[in-house]
Amino acid sequence: AHWRDAFKISRADTLVIIATAFFQKLPGRMVWMPTLAKARLVIAVAASAYAGALLNEGYGFAVAGLVVIMLTGPYIAIDTRDLLRMNLAALLALVPVMLLLPLTTFDKVGTTVFALLAAAVSTLLGRVVESSNRRAFRLERDLHRDARTDSLTGLDNRRAMQERWRAELKRAQRTGSPVSVILCDLDHFKNVNDQYGHEAGDAALTRAALVLRRSLRESDVVGRWGGEEFMAILPGTDAAGAAEVAERMRMAIAVTTFDGVKERQTISLGVASSEQLEDPGLEWDLLIKEADQRLYRAKHEGRNRVVSSR
Ligand code: GH3
Ligand code: MG
Ligand code: MG
Repeated sequence: AHWRDAFKISRADTLVIIATAFFQKLPGRMVWMPTLAKARLVIAVAASAYAGALLNEGYGFAVAGLVVIMLTGPYIAIDTRDLLRMNLAALLALVPVMLLLPLTTFDKVGTTVFALLAAAVSTLLGRVVESSNRRAFRLERDLHRDARTDSLTGLDNRRAMQERWRAELKRAQRTGSPVSVILCDLDHFKNVNDQYGHEAGDAALTRAALVLRRSLRESDVVGRWGGEEFMAILPGTDAAGAAEVAERMRMAIAVTTFDGVKERQTISLGVASSEQLEDPGLEWDLLIKEADQRLYRAKHEGRNRVVSSR
């Protein structure tokens, strides 16, 4: 008996689900998604209880549906607290159905017990889902960081520098401000390894990285470009400014003492700035090539120096 009414109610619920799904797919309506998902769950719980209550002897089916709907909560909620709020709303939605409809006491108790059990299981599932989501997020974040960090010096690695460059290049093109790059290479570094061993060489590279980092501004980017080669990207800095910075880096290394290494170390630097390029297209490769050629010249002209123009 009353199956037609029950059927209409459950189809109306289906329509609500489909309509809200279409609505949130409209451009700019994405922000409604979490709210609509919760509204759908609450409406579905109420509709299934209401439809079931209309059926003679059919309430057992309604309770099963209600439990199934409530168990989709962990999939919908953002975190455990969100899920608790949602389950509470769903349970509250059941109250008027049970008060207003002519249900037997047995059905009322059954519905209450099943709904509470479903909420409890949903909470447990929610905790599992949340903790595994958090773990996955952390792993992915660490992986992302490790893939962009040089393990010896802790500086950005080559890949990270290439990504940073692309971002800085876009910004420079947008704002019309210059961007400069400095390539530097430790002079005769092979001697440190040969004389004091690879470990002392590694320690010296780590120390050099720190010294270079400290000689730059916070907004500058410094990374390890290769073996004993470092790169700095200076956003908003023109050729003259970059030459000054390079000179500061050179001085900083020249006055540094390295643990277990008797001799002072020096670096050679090549500087290139976007404004110096003939091609205004700001090509990364061109700029690096220019800086590399100037570094090469600094080496040829006697090392421990900065070359910043042709
Ligand atoms: P130049 O002034 O021409 O740059 O001389 P150089 O000896 O620095 O240059 P070369 O390219 O001949 O040798 C670079 C050396 O840097 C080779 C290697 O011994 C050392 N090196 C590169 N990467 C590392 C590293 O990760 N650890 C250590 N300990 N040494 C490294
Ligand atoms: Mg070298
Ligand atoms: Mg080198």
